[in-house]
Amino acid sequence: MTAPSAQIAAPAEAAPAPAAGPDTRGLIFGLQRFSTEDGPGIRTTVFVKGCPMRCPWCQNPEGLAPGKQVLWARARCLGDGGCVNACPHGALAREGGATRVDPAVCQACGTCADFCPANALEVAGWERTAREVAANVLRDRGFYERSGGGVTFSGGEPLTQPDFVAAALDLLGAAGVHRALDTCGAAGPATLRALLGRVELVLFDLKHMDPDRHLEQTGIRLDKVLECAREVKRAGVPCWVRTPVIPGHTDDEANIRAIARFVKAELPRAARYDLLAFSKLCVSKYEQLGRQGAVVARLPLVPRSHMERLRAVALEEGLSTVVWSGMTAT
Ligand code: SF4
Ligand code: SF4
Repeated sequence: MTAPSAQIAAPAEAAPAPAAGPDTRGLIFGLQRFSTEDGPGIRTTVFVKGCPMRCPWCQNPEGLAPGKQVLWARARCLGDGGCVNACPHGALAREGGATRVDPAVCQACGTCADFCPANALEVAGWERTAREVAANVLRDRGFYERSGGGVTFSGGEPLTQPDFVAAALDLLGAAGVHRALDTCGAAGPATLRALLGRVELVLFDLKHMDPDRHLEQTGIRLDKVLECAREVKRAGVPCWVRTPVIPGHTDDEANIRAIARFVKAELPRAARYDLLAFSKLCVSKYEQLGRQGAVVARLPLVPRSHMERLRAVALEEGLSTVVWSGMTAT
């Protein structure tokens, strides 16, 4: 797998992080209003930058690196190269008809994105305070109240910025907003524990139950993830378990059966099991990061009949609410 071509560090002049509170700063790469796929009701999903896992099928590759990154969209680029001269740090070059970013030089200043007349360049990653994020989320409070929705912190992995997320959750909890945490369970249990008391729902990802395949696919040991799942159980927080169904990676019946058995035995408060069919919408994001050879470009969609079969497998194992969603081949 090709490494992202535009990963960059946070600006050197960034101020030291203050104590956790409304002014705690975090780095997010998206804030999606009217989301209906990240918990009950109408929600706002906050995408927190940084993730310790490296799943080759990730739907949000621009959320993996902890720092800001420059994305370049070939389809919008005029090819005139004006951005190369506009960059004050000499981080850009035109090579083989593409605009390249040198991640070791780029300072994430955003000058190129402001300059580009075609909006072909964009910086993924915006610094915001917990107070700013909460204020933005509260704009849709009426929708949450009418639909039984709220806010979901997702990513990336929100546990990579626990102080910022905790501060935002505190503000939103004080305002009476339903709060959900979408996690892959790759953090230490103590980090997770600090946030579990601040949410009404956990969306917990379980990808593979074979330890070797889990490590090979995600870069993280399965036992670490299962320990976090048990931490959710100990805290007594309601949860939904979710599995990305990825052809050739997680989509075999034995894997779904093993996950369903774990959920039945270890997560009695799991109200729902979601099977999320692989989507190809992410392919262009890999290209914008300079990762043309990414695995996702070669993966097929999952046939609808297979999603239905996997749902049946989970039901056979005793789970009562199993939902599949996403793009399918037929
Ligand atoms: S990214 Fe924008 S400024 Fe740079 S070559 Fe393409 S169109 Fe021109
Ligand atoms: S203008 Fe700024 S953000 Fe764009 S490549 Fe140069 S240093 Fe990076």
